[in-house]
Amino acid sequence: MYNRILIANRGEIALRIIRACREMGIETVAVFSEGDRGSAYLDLADEAYCVGNARSNESYLRIDQIISAAEVSGADAIHPGYGFLAENAKFNEVCRDCEIDFIGPSPEAMQKLGDKNEARSLANQAGVPVVPGSDGLIENEKEAIAVAEQIGFPVLIKATAGGGGKGMRVATDLATLKAGLEQAANEALAAFGNAGVYIEKFVEHPRHVEVQVLADKHGNVVHLWERDCSTQRRHQKLIEESPGPTLPGDTRSEICAAAVRMIENANYYNAGTVEFIVDQENNFYFIEVNARIQVEHPVSEMVTGIDLIQQQIKVGSGEILAFNQEDIPCNGVAIECRINAEDPAHNFRPCPGRIDQIFVPGGFGVRFDSHVHAGYTVPPYYDSMIGKLIVHQPTRDQAIDCMIGALSELRIEGIQTTAPFHIQVLRSQDFRDGKVDTGWVARTM
Ligand code: ADP
Ligand code: ADP
Ligand code: MG
Repeated sequence: MYNRILIANRGEIALRIIRACREMGIETVAVFSEGDRGSAYLDLADEAYCVGNARSNESYLRIDQIISAAEVSGADAIHPGYGFLAENAKFNEVCRDCEIDFIGPSPEAMQKLGDKNEARSLANQAGVPVVPGSDGLIENEKEAIAVAEQIGFPVLIKATAGGGGKGMRVATDLATLKAGLEQAANEALAAFGNAGVYIEKFVEHPRHVEVQVLADKHGNVVHLWERDCSTQRRHQKLIEESPGPTLPGDTRSEICAAAVRMIENANYYNAGTVEFIVDQENNFYFIEVNARIQVEHPVSEMVTGIDLIQQQIKVGSGEILAFNQEDIPCNGVAIECRINAEDPAHNFRPCPGRIDQIFVPGGFGVRFDSHVHAGYTVPPYYDSMIGKLIVHQPTRDQAIDCMIGALSELRIEGIQTTAPFHIQVLRSQDFRDGKVDTGWVARTM
């Protein structure tokens, strides 16, 4: 087991990882940018190093600075969290060269799965259904038109290097296809340095269902059931729950088995997520693998009783998974709401600034994963998520009611947050009835 882990991240996930390490008796090294200097959660780490300026490409994305901090502090492993360098195969490789364990998959598996188009062919090989679409990257407009006419409009143009909802364009006809190709490629080039795009059938009114998996370095792969993340805005998740409220039992077994097959085929170890789109007839189609811990991992932790961060650390250090598939329960229902420093009344515009007062809800089955506190200033440089409110209850109705109560208790003064938006969604009959698809927020709210 590791003695010392460096956490190459910030905010709530950095704190989450520090806590897991402390419980395991592992020392922690935090890093911070000038924009996060003085953050209280840094005091919980055994050491903390400044890695550069506030902007993330001058700090949290600086491979040289992060590696230096690891070398100087004598860390034997790096946990990347999510975002930033978490899916950067180059960073993963540099860690290997420096003999520091990267808590994640091998650089080779990461490379293969990080390219969404390659991951699609891997899914095909593993007998996992993929969304009908192009056979590889789109080389020119002519090819795009041929694919679109074959699968039928609407289609979705997707960046092979895309992530975080970026580099995607819906096309409903030839004109929007031509414009979308260029827009998606340009956006992808600017955001990811890779202009490659492919085309998928745009599945209408789908649900987003993903399977949490866990794999060790000895070939053992298990799943921790599914999460439904259909409450989305601009392809970004807002509310996640486990189990999925609408999946028939046999579909559920099939989708979980498909995810395990996919992971086995990729020679993958670490925690990971296999994402699917589910249409209204409950047909499921693979969309991508997230080769890292995800924001919404707590809902799976609550229903299974398994600490996913601790498991990542254990399998990273070479331990054999201590349980079999049959040992993984799915108890009750867990829901998570992402609390973002955004103003839902003004088109979710970011609201960085000082939190004057905060009252955090509690009670049976309520969990708040957050690094913020009264007097904390939300910096303007990073993702606007400041915390995650999670509830766990025996039934879905109880979980919804508990979440409404917890959200109403949550008081954050000084900035606007998405909490009032969540209350509105949870109070809707559609959410209660499990009728929310990925376009619901845009249509209804
Ligand atoms: P999750 O399902 O874990 O929420 P997201 O796709 O929303 O996954 O990504 C989690 C975090 O990582 C978000 O903060 C998002 O902005 C960031 N992120 C995702 N993909 C990328 C990428 N390719 N480059 C930079 N940041 C990314
Ligand atoms: P990212 O890497 O940005 O997370 P994904 O491929 O996971 O990209 O897609 C993000 C979201 O976009 C999905 O959760 C879903 O809401 C929507 N989406 C993706 N592919 C399709 C599709 N073929 N049809 C309809 N919606 C899709
Ligand atoms: Mg995704």
